[in-house]
Order: sequence, then structure tokens, then C-alpha cells
Amino acid sequence: MEAVVCKFGGSSVADAECIRNILSVVQLDPRRRFVVVSAPGKRSKADKKITDLLYLCHELAGQELDIDGPFHLIRDRYLEIARDLEVGLDVEKLLGALDKEIRAGASPDFVASRGEYLCARIVADFLQGTFVEAADHITIDGRGLVMEGSYKKLAAALSGEGTYVIPGFYGASLEGEVRTFSRGGSDITGAITARAVSAVVYENWTDVSGFLMSDPNIVVNPKPMRTVTYREIRELAYMGANVFHEDAIFPVSRERIPINIRNIHYPKDPGTVIVDQRDTKDRVVVGIAGKTGFSIIFVEKLLMNRQLGFGRRLFSILETHGISFEHAPSGIDTMSIVVADSQLEGKKERVLEDIKRQLEPDRVDISSGFALIATVGEGMAYRPGIAARLFAALANAGINIRVIDQGSSEINIIVGVETADFENAVRAIYQAFC
Ligand code: ASP
Repeated sequence: MEAVVCKFGGSSVADAECIRNILSVVQLDPRRRFVVVSAPGKRSKADKKITDLLYLCHELAGQELDIDGPFHLIRDRYLEIARDLEVGLDVEKLLGALDKEIRAGASPDFVASRGEYLCARIVADFLQGTFVEAADHITIDGRGLVMEGSYKKLAAALSGEGTYVIPGFYGASLEGEVRTFSRGGSDITGAITARAVSAVVYENWTDVSGFLMSDPNIVVNPKPMRTVTYREIRELAYMGANVFHEDAIFPVSRERIPINIRNIHYPKDPGTVIVDQRDTKDRVVVGIAGKTGFSIIFVEKLLMNRQLGFGRRLFSILETHGISFEHAPSGIDTMSIVVADSQLEGKKERVLEDIKRQLEPDRVDISSGFALIATVGEGMAYRPGIAARLFAALANAGINIRVIDQGSSEINIIVGVETADFENAVRAIYQAFC
């Protein structure tokens, strides 16, 4: 039978009521047999995430301080959920063991992983499914990435009948110690599971109906993004449009398994589907995303284009100062390098001095206060008039473009504008394309 993997994020397991919704979702489609869960998230804005509380307990224990405050919050939350769902599991006992382990100096990864572990144990009991220990099947390497052998191991553990529940966010190191992915990493576990069972779709249940075409804090009521490609979502995620962990794309994109971002509060909403290829005829631009907080290092030197190694030497100066760059659009005698402000902190003067001394440019300066905006759409490069429409929209809104970079991926045009123009620029581009 076809398999569907459902990953439920922190907001979908925040309390017993949410977990009951999981049961209804799973019961609606018999293919939904593989359930991956996060740790309980916030129930309201002022609430605390279980994972944050666990990290706090670990930190306090490390300094030999009292962990009672945060540990009580964790305890109460799980006990309330378990009581409300009437699960048979002895949650009290599991919490007692955890309390001891934290006090005895358990590693931060182990302590943080218990958020997902306890949640998966409760959900497995409630759904009458089989709990599968992620640490026994998922191996995470020194860089925090999943190791290839994990897929086979996990597939074998999931090969029986019935419903399986897998805790997200962690696996084990080669040495067998519990190890977590980076924050938000349950999305990665979901993707690994989807690949392991060759799922027809990886459903990622959260508290929003997928992606919007732009930031709702900037554009009023932006349209939902129905279909988007893996490549497009990566470009948008990089520019700050975040619903889904970036590293969760690779396990599924390799196998072309679609990812469907769905809303647990509105299960009928189709959400956003992330696919390998989409029809670009109906929509060229899928999304507009941007970030503020950039500086531009501008270097000008007559006949720069004829000077062998000029670019290399400029980049090696940045490398020496430990600065990574975002974009580097260049002209015949000029180069602009866009870097995040945070990269330049406390280094500006020394970078300028080094460039002057080593490259003897006619002009070099660093100006701050820029925002970058990415207009993203597969097939943009092959469609005449897109850039013209983008630039006309900005010109009509009276916005001066300081940098233009048509990314080498050819699915992205990035413009740099002054921070003061950022929001107007996003709105102008949105109106032109969406
Ligand atoms: N609970 C972990 C976190 O808060 C992982 C996840 O929710 O995906 O980062």
C-alpha cells in the first residue's frame, strides 16, 4: 500500500486537544501510517516550548543550580496531556528518570531529545501505534547530517503493519550517544522517514496553511503559495521565508517525494505542495522574500577586468578576516560585495585598510543600511520581460535600486535597496507579479 508520512510540529502536539486532532487526521486516510512528532510547543504567545525548558534545565544543572522551576513546567505539561488523553503509559516514572538523568549531568543533546521522546511515547500509546526509537535507527555524523545507512535501518524497523510513531529531532552519533539535529530538526526526521518508506507524500502539519507569496507583516493578505519547487523554496528560505527546515528538503528531493505543508487547525486546506517540477505557465513568480541588515563593500579600479587575480585577492582578504559574503555583482571596473552587517562587526576599518594596501583601488568604501529582496520563480530566466516588469515596478514606486544580481541559479532576481525603502519595494514587486 502507498505510504504517507505525517510530521506534526510543536504547535500540533502542544496539548491534548491538539493530539486528538492528530488522531482525526490520521484516521481520515489509511495511508497515514508513519507519524513523526516534535516536542510540545507554545500554547499561547507567552507560553514556553518544552525544548527550551529542557535546554534551560541542562544549563542550570551544569552550574549546579536548582532545576525545579523549569522541570515542574515540563512535568506538569506532560502529566496534563497524558491524563487528558487517558494513556496507560507511566509518564510519571519516565519523568522521574529524566529528572535524575539531568541532575546526573546528561548531555545537552540527550536532555533536549527527551521532549520528542516523551511526546512520541504518549502519542504512540494514544494512537495505539508502535513507538520506534530514533536513536536506534538514525545515525547523525559529526556535521549534524544524517548518514546514508540510516534509511535502510529505519525502513526495516517500519516494515510491519499498523501505525508507527517516531520521535523527531534526534538520532545517535557513530559512538551511539544521543545526538540532535539543529533546532527545528523534526522536519528532517520526517523527511528521512518519508525517504525510508518511499512515501508518496511527506505531509508536514503545522499551524499555518503552507507558505504565503510574501510576508504578511509587509503585504496585506498575501496569496497562498499552492505549488512551489524544491529549488524555489530553498531560495525563499535563504531569504528568511521560514516554515520548514532547509535540511529537510534533501532526503525527499532526491527521491522526488512531494512535501505538503498543511494546517492542523484547517485540515481541509490544501496547503502548499513542494515538488520537483511545476508548470510555470500559470505563474512565473512564486514568492518574494527579503531581509534587512546588509552592507556593500564597493571597490573601483580602472582596468580591473584586465588584472589577473584581482577578484581572488579581494575575496582572500575577506577570508582572512573570517567574513563570508552573500553576493558579488561586478562591472568592468567595479566590484560590489554584499555582506551581512553581522559579518563586518568590529572589522570594517581593518578590512578597508587591507583592501587599500593590497589592491590599491581608485575607490573603496563600505556602506551599510541595505536590504536584499529576492523575487523567485522557476523559468524566470527564459521569459522575456520579467526583469523589466520588476524594475518598472520599483521605478514607479520611486525606489532606487542599489544592487542587482540575477542569481546564477536563474530562478532568482535579487535587488538591493536602502532599508528605508524595503517594505515599499516588497509591496511594489508583489503587486507587479502576484
Ligand atoms: N523540538 C525541537 C525544537 O524546538 C525540534 C523541532 O521542534 O523540530 O527545535
